[in-house]
Amino acid sequence: MSGPRHVAVIGAGIVGVATALFLQRDAHRVTLIDRAGPAAGASYGNAGGVVLSACMPIGMPGIVCRVPAMLLDRDGPLRVRWRYLPRIAPWLLAFVRASHPARVEEISCTLAAILRAAEAPWHDLVRGRAVAALLRPVGWLRVYDTDAGFAAVRPVLDLMTRRGFTFEVLSQAALRELEPALAPIFRRGVWHPESYSVADPGRMVRDLAAAFVADGGTLMRAEVRDIETANGASRVMTDGGPIAADAVVVAAGAWSRALARRLGVRVPLDTERGYHLMLAPAEPGLRRPTVWGERGFVLAPHAEGIRLTSGVEFAGLDAPPDFRPIRRLVPLARRMLPSLRAEERSAWLGFRPSLPDSLPVIGPVPGRRDIFFAFGHGHLGLTLGPATGRAVADVIAGRRPAFDLEPFAVARWSCRR
Ligand SMILES: Cc1cc2nc3c(=O)[nH]c(=O)nc-3n(C[C@H](O)[C@H](O)[C@H](O)COP(=O)(O)OP(=O)(O)OC[C@H]3O[C@@H](n4cnc5c(N)ncnc54)[C@H](O)[C@@H]3O)c2cc1C
Repeated sequence: MSGPRHVAVIGAGIVGVATALFLQRDAHRVTLIDRAGPAAGASYGNAGGVVLSACMPIGMPGIVCRVPAMLLDRDGPLRVRWRYLPRIAPWLLAFVRASHPARVEEISCTLAAILRAAEAPWHDLVRGRAVAALLRPVGWLRVYDTDAGFAAVRPVLDLMTRRGFTFEVLSQAALRELEPALAPIFRRGVWHPESYSVADPGRMVRDLAAAFVADGGTLMRAEVRDIETANGASRVMTDGGPIAADAVVVAAGAWSRALARRLGVRVPLDTERGYHLMLAPAEPGLRRPTVWGERGFVLAPHAEGIRLTSGVEFAGLDAPPDFRPIRRLVPLARRMLPSLRAEERSAWLGFRPSLPDSLPVIGPVPGRRDIFFAFGHGHLGLTLGPATGRAVADVIAGRRPAFDLEPFAVARWSCRR
């Protein structure tokens, strides 16, 4: 596609907003559509990590053997609503297949390529704007209170080393120096110093969307029901009426599967639900997002306090939230950070848009040169949203993206109806 065009972007999470901004820089007329406004989905409530070394899939080899123990631990990082099991079973089977050692090597090479391209577009998006202050170069930390817990992360560290990412293994003393407010119960830490923390992910996305509007973009609040094609042109069908567009980008996060189906594409997108509690500020506080490795939860410094984020719940998009498990983590969180006050300010459920191989889908709809998918970023959407947006804009402009898009093609699930 050459020359400026009208592009409709569906979904104003980090992926859609970043895509809209990069398209705008190419002088396209861009309409960004969201049924609830910017940062209404997962991009609002995540842990804020821009984790540039996270080249491992969630399904590492041997995960199957660890799942039963995780499910039996009522404070563990994994939950399944049993009624949802029949729906999620095919996804879980594909997840197990993707955890085969040879496939994990491939996936980590693919993730490494997009991660290496992820930092520059983040800076491009925030440069010269007030939101730049929200992107803080403080790294990402994992801590372990047992030798066994630390030993269990070895395969992940080896994988990172094979992909050329660096990290520092910290002794108890080094950990205390880096993050003095942590309880002295942690024996080891792994620090990823090149990573960033977004101090308020919701505000970041909302402010970037406001910048898009200030620069002439159109932000529309509407529910997209369908994408139709007539005489070679696309029309986005919304509850506010149709929008004619020369190109369409589907960036609707965990809700993208339904839109893909309307386009005749089946994709095994599901959601790994995750919760957060916003807790009152702590003094002394944390300097960077910190994961308790054995427990699988994160405490992240946030502009408004400390955000506690939980692991994964399989229950689909419609089941009501159950905040009991994350509330049970509060005493553990206080063990981790003794200055933490158990004063809950808000509770939130979000929907990670997840594919079984931990890779997003980025690229054109098979057989179409005017409709693009940009969804399925799972645990890494904040990290990879800007790289995705730039890559989509590159393809639409006829430029070569910074990383190979082929491994991200939806065709890997080969699923045209
Ligand atoms: C607890 C938790 C912690 C996380 N921590 C991190 C982290 O530290 N680092 C990291 O990189 N990632 C993290 N993530 C993952 C990250 O938040 C997601 O991958 C990312 O936000 C996905 O962005 P998105 O733009 O694809 O989707 P979303 O942010 O969910 O946005 C999708 C948007 O599409 C809109 N939409 C959907 N359907 C329609 C429709 N039909 N019509 C109109 N609008 C529609 C929705 O309203 C929504 O605003 C975390 C996620 C969770 C839940």
